Amino acid sequence: MKKLSVVAFGGNALLRGDEEGTYEEQLKNVIDTCENIVHLIKAGNNLVIGHGNGPQVGNVMLQHEAGAKVFGIVPQPMHLCVSETQGSIAYLIEQQLRNVLLKHGIERNIISIITQVVVDKNDDAFKNLTKPVGPFYTVEESKELEIDKNWVFQKDPRDRGWRRVVASPKPMEINNWQIVEKLANDGNIVITVGGGGIPVIQNADGSFEGVDAVIDKDLASATLAKLIKADEFFILTDVPKVYINYHKANQKALSRISISEAQKYMDEGHFAAGSMAPKVKACMMFVENGGIEAVITEASQLKDENCGTRICK
Ligand code: ADP
Ligand code: MG
Repeated sequence: MKKLSVVAFGGNALLRGDEEGTYEEQLKNVIDTCENIVHLIKAGNNLVIGHGNGPQVGNVMLQHEAGAKVFGIVPQPMHLCVSETQGSIAYLIEQQLRNVLLKHGIERNIISIITQVVVDKNDDAFKNLTKPVGPFYTVEESKELEIDKNWVFQKDPRDRGWRRVVASPKPMEINNWQIVEKLANDGNIVITVGGGGIPVIQNADGSFEGVDAVIDKDLASATLAKLIKADEFFILTDVPKVYINYHKANQKALSRISISEAQKYMDEGHFAAGSMAPKVKACMMFVENGGIEAVITEASQLKDENCGTRICK
């Protein structure tokens, strides 16, 4: 059987640096990223693609807010906004990957799946809300929304106003992972678990219900990689390797590290919370649960088969 790889696209697969986020910018970035992952396909791997949605879902939420203020269009809950971005981002990746494969004379089906990810309604994350989302509000507006919508607010540390905070719960179950596994092992490229998945809770009667929360996209992709028994897990981001003493005079790139070395560097505080730490943790979880190798790198490095920082047992 072919090697099965899960690849998580980071924010820069769609938006880079201080780009505005026009359709043309996103299109160009997606094409570049798809060109880069052709190396994996040519190497004979089966492929599942996950992706982030941070800036995109933020914008969709602002659009809902603005639409409500200007036109009186009823805003929809955050989990619905996540589903919107899963659709729009997967559409772009699917279409442009198909075009890139066509150019390279490669024939593969590409299928995008809207993915719900089950979280535990008793997860401690729902008691300790950490993830700021949506627009900044005045203190008066935030007080009103607290009462109207039962939202929780925190003052912005950079004094830009008050911002809603939501939970970042752990992914428990990824709906349809068995189908993703089968499709991928049959040679179809599957785009799934976008933005970490649409967070849903499961009620006692088995029914599902969307919740406003943010699931870490690297952890969700790693969880999927574990469930479908992937051989390799790639996190594509905007740095070619992971570093210790990052941005210091004695910065050093890591090429291949064991889980215990990764843990030691984590404990020493080399990986920033909210950016590199969750990526390294996701890789460790994948390897601890049977994955052979997890790689953190930048997409343009993929032509070199030893690229990036590789976390192994
Ligand atoms: P993505 O959108 O791809 O998920 P993030 O911005 O969340 O990316 O994380 C990537 C960023 O992590 C890099 O741009 C880098 O600035 C930061 N980072 C923090 N600590 C490290 C480290 N030790 N080594 C490399 N990058 C690091
Ligand atoms: Mg980023």
